[in-house]
Amino acid sequence: MIAISKAIKIVERETRSLGAEKILLSDGVGCVLAQDVIADTDLPPFDRSQMDGYAVIADDTVDTPVSLAIIGESAAGVGWNGKVRPGQAVRIMTGARVPEGADSVQRVELTGEANGNVEILEPVKLRTAIVRRGAEIKKGETIFKTGDIVTENMIAALAAFGYAKVKVGKRPRVVILGTGSEIVEIDKRPGRDKIRNSNSVMLDVMCRRFGSEATILPIVRDDISDLKYQILKAAKQNDILIITGGVSVGKYDHTKTALAELGAEIFFDKVRLKPGKPAVFARLGKTLIFGLPGNPVSAAVTFHLFARKAMLQMQGASKPELHTGFATLASDAKAARERDTYLPSRLETNKLGQLVAYPLKWLGSSDFIGFARADSMIFIPKGVHLTKGEVATIVFL
Ligand code: AMP
Ligand code: MG
Repeated sequence: MIAISKAIKIVERETRSLGAEKILLSDGVGCVLAQDVIADTDLPPFDRSQMDGYAVIADDTVDTPVSLAIIGESAAGVGWNGKVRPGQAVRIMTGARVPEGADSVQRVELTGEANGNVEILEPVKLRTAIVRRGAEIKKGETIFKTGDIVTENMIAALAAFGYAKVKVGKRPRVVILGTGSEIVEIDKRPGRDKIRNSNSVMLDVMCRRFGSEATILPIVRDDISDLKYQILKAAKQNDILIITGGVSVGKYDHTKTALAELGAEIFFDKVRLKPGKPAVFARLGKTLIFGLPGNPVSAAVTFHLFARKAMLQMQGASKPELHTGFATLASDAKAARERDTYLPSRLETNKLGQLVAYPLKWLGSSDFIGFARADSMIFIPKGVHLTKGEVATIVFL
């Protein structure tokens, strides 16, 4: 049995980068940038009005009301090209260029327009409602770096600088293989002694969240020759193969034997971890293979600890690690005696401004109903019993 940290190091050591590819920006969320993103213009590219109103010279509005001559109009996309002089104003719209000479915008609600003049009803402070050219970002500045993971909130910025296509780490091709003679596909009604395949679709979604292109293979029965055939076929053209089930020591747990007989190099097959002790990590040819326990919660936990790291590293992520933090425990939480433990939890804040972790009630590693509400896991070192109110390390999922 090896420590979790050791297992993660082995995954890191065996994972190679896949190079880069160009993809459509709209497909970029979850991918990893393989280029620095540079501003190709100032933002805003001109002094921009934040309001609908009148571009004026602030000094003209010290004594109000005051009447100014409207000499033009500056609309978004169609600016006004003259120069504003004392006693003059230009009608202006949100997003339009502030004309030369004007130094402030008075919003329309504090004005009245009649006969080609505007009455400014209240003084306006210098630079009111103007975002200066380059105030948000200057041309040539680096906005995002190689290795950053693309999020939804980055898309508008990438679009603003013309990244219709974006260079990202090549997306790992992942194939997911569920095993077990009791497993039926999710659109079937399980017969006697059978259950539906929870794992494959869960892992498919998780893989896609972390930038991979995943495919689900049909379930394989607990039959060693069939399993070997399917593993060999699946490993061929993919970067990662995720197998679930059949990794422990039961009579029909064939995953490890199949891997060994196919000549895969097995790096570890037992981790000091709860849930997820029988997790297997191997390589066949160039394909990394994760053999995850069949219990959906164990599969999810081991996915996050090991497979997620590998797929992010393949794409060149500068931070492929799990995001950790600290939270106050809402109730006692206990680790297994011999194994470091991850307890599924839900985070809330309290009136003291603390982040509080609620361990989810669960009946052990097969309780994926409890797990469904998890947004985090509480980490507890082996043998440790933490009590309500203590601060624990948590992992954000
Ligand atoms: P195993 O790792 O094959 O010993 O399976 C452990 C437990 O997880 C057993 O109760 C299995 O029935 C269950 N299990 C295995 N594979 C799946 C799956 N794809 N979906 C849901 N449960 C599964
Ligand atoms: Mg099984």
